[in-house]
Amino acid sequence: MTDCIPTTNVNAPPNGKSALIIGVSGQDGALLARLLLAKGYHVHGSSRDAQIGNFGNLERVGVRHRVQLHSAVTTDFRSVAQLLSRTAPDEVYLLAGQSSVGLSFEQPVETLESIALGTLNLLEAIRFLGLPTRLYNAGSSECFGDQEEPADEQTAFRPRSPYAVAKASAHWAVASYREAYGLHACTGILFNHESPLRPLRFVTRKIVASVCRIAAGSAERLRLGNLDIERDWGWAPEYVDAMWRMLQLPEANDFVIATGQAHSLRSFVEFAFAALDLDWRAHVDYDDDLRRPSDLRRSVGCPRRAAEYLGWKATSDLQSVIRRMLDAEQGRAWPMQANS
Ligand code: NDP
Repeated sequence: MTDCIPTTNVNAPPNGKSALIIGVSGQDGALLARLLLAKGYHVHGSSRDAQIGNFGNLERVGVRHRVQLHSAVTTDFRSVAQLLSRTAPDEVYLLAGQSSVGLSFEQPVETLESIALGTLNLLEAIRFLGLPTRLYNAGSSECFGDQEEPADEQTAFRPRSPYAVAKASAHWAVASYREAYGLHACTGILFNHESPLRPLRFVTRKIVASVCRIAAGSAERLRLGNLDIERDWGWAPEYVDAMWRMLQLPEANDFVIATGQAHSLRSFVEFAFAALDLDWRAHVDYDDDLRRPSDLRRSVGCPRRAAEYLGWKATSDLQSVIRRMLDAEQGRAWPMQANS
């Protein structure tokens, strides 16, 4: 299937629609900006401080100068309301907030406020201003907690980290505003999705970067926590396409976005080293300090409903995701980079 891969033409003629991406500097923000520009949208993007923000991701995907940047802080209602009235977008994608599960144990209040209060402020501002704006909220598979069976839209939430608690709260705020006020607002419950734009703080990018340095001759040891955890890892450019598809539905609804396949962290490590002809066992150390206060053992999603209603299906398997991340880390071309 190729219908989920965004076109590489980023110079589509204007389609008369505008979108606002809150959190445009992140991995998903940059990839989504590229996709929407390719569809002819006028794209606004916000950052907490657009004067000093780091927009390296937008540069890497070649759209830095085509996104109209704004400063806004979602925990400040006035700031959100001003941003919305200034931009009056047809579609808003709320991607901002503290996004690391690990960091959420160290910064629980910042995590809760930036995600839960940020979402509530945005919902209130849309309602208060009476805008016809459609809202996509970045939800997370972390809300499900540990599951043996693939989680779908009916699976109960059992959050086990401050991050997951915050995402669950934002999810229910969106659902209740949709029901109470008829807002076209939805949450994408996305499982892990990776790309070369992932910050080094995330384990997938940390592994890929270390493997490349070791392949180039570094004698470093790669220190990792529990290798038995299982996750459902997809290719981020496909996941931002699912976000856009959700906002095109006549009626807003929440969707699980996932590959449906779980792999252990050990398999991820093994694939990454093997791709560069290395044996992971010679380079990896277990570090108990990297265990989290509560780590999910297994997390896998059921994307059946997304296939049925959005025509969306993940097409990249884990090996191809890892290969593209390795290519980018080694300075080779990857599909979404500038000029591709
Ligand atoms: P990133 O961390 O790459 O980007 C998030 C953006 O949010 C940043 O660019 C930053 O923008 C802003 N931000 C960071 N910390 C804070 C904070 N404390 N308060 C307010 N804003 C903050 O995330 P991704 O692009 O990977 O993910 C996008 C969204 O999707 C996030 O909400 C994430 O939680 C969620 N998600 C991601 C998944 C994934 O696998 N990538 C899986 C499931 C959900 P700036 O500094 O410019 O203000």
